Amino acid sequence: EILSCSGYTLSYKFLNWLDKQLILEKIVNPTNSKYENIDNKDEVDSKNTPSKDTISVPSQSQNNIKTTKSNTILTLDEKKDEEEDDDSNYYENSIGIKFYSNDLSSNILNTMFKKQNLEINLSSLIKRTSGLVGADIENIVNEASLRIAKDNREVIEPADFEYALEKVLMGPEKKVKKIQEKEKQITAYHELGHALLAHIQEEADPVEKISIVRRGRALGVTWTTPKEDKYHQTKKYLLEEVTVLLAWRASEEIFFGKEEITSGASNDFERANTIIRSMLVQYGMDEDLGLAVYKEDQDYTLFKPYSEEKAEQIDKKIKEYLDKAYKKAKEIIQDHKDEIVRIAGILIRKEYLSGDDFSEMIDHPETIDTFEEAIEKKEKEEEKNSQKEEKSESSSTE
Ligand code: ZN
Repeated sequence: EILSCSGYTLSYKFLNWLDKQLILEKIVNPTNSKYENIDNKDEVDSKNTPSKDTISVPSQSQNNIKTTKSNTILTLDEKKDEEEDDDSNYYENSIGIKFYSNDLSSNILNTMFKKQNLEINLSSLIKRTSGLVGADIENIVNEASLRIAKDNREVIEPADFEYALEKVLMGPEKKVKKIQEKEKQITAYHELGHALLAHIQEEADPVEKISIVRRGRALGVTWTTPKEDKYHQTKKYLLEEVTVLLAWRASEEIFFGKEEITSGASNDFERANTIIRSMLVQYGMDEDLGLAVYKEDQDYTLFKPYSEEKAEQIDKKIKEYLDKAYKKAKEIIQDHKDEIVRIAGILIRKEYLSGDDFSEMIDHPETIDTFEEAIEKKEKEEEKNSQKEEKSESSSTE
């Protein structure tokens, strides 16, 4: 399964904005007495805003700030910059916000604000929440805060958000006692197929994380995130995404053999087919089919708006594109076969890999040794620790 979104803008803006609040509070108001005197907005903006959008924080005198009992709810100001695009409307309406709605999460926000040396790297979170609506983000913040409360901690960590993000988007971790080794292998090679093609191709969204932890219905997941805000998708990009989607099957075929391919995640296939079809019948991206739109609304079930001949031509074209993408996926996986086998070994033991670690191992295979050694060391330590625990347990029961 692949999680990726093209609606990058929404949460990117949101989290940027959140990021800004944290800095803002530090600069403007170290005593935590709310947002007054925000005249030095420019300073704040220049400090940490990769986004071109200027979302300013209202001063308290303005009506559109909402406060709760605990005084931590923030809303967005009217947009002031007329050059802002329409997206920002959508953003403000859909998020426009009440995300710290319970006391628990207000506490968290307070903690975040109060912390002088706050250094939360939101960038990974920003990327990985692409396309989410406000409610999702609210859930994520709540989950993160629950976790902190549960651990009795005061400091919020990126890992809290990471945990919350995966729980909200994919369901809680499934503790399956014994997943058969073979099942784990199938999942690992499935995800590594996606990941490799996402990494190698020029325009495909890069890998953020690979996981073979079971969540909800998913056996594993490869997170990919766009490099930047995307308003347009090129033909090249779409074709590469299709190749990423098909790569799991290519990987199975190469590593397990033609007879051993599995039913896998048929959703990957569906998405690949949908993208190709849209390219052909909607976006006019095929030269032979030309610029005509061959719409297939449900209204047309009886009367197709184009001939049977055309329908055949479209089907044939779709197959051509899919076959070509599949072939490309196979070639690239073949080229990295040895690395993938070793990385799969690591993934199976660790259950997850960061996108950076994965890229490092693919780009510099000589580093795989180091990763293997690290995991061996860690496993040995864990073994030692569990032996110690067993010893102390047995001695205390004697
Ligand atoms: Zn998949």
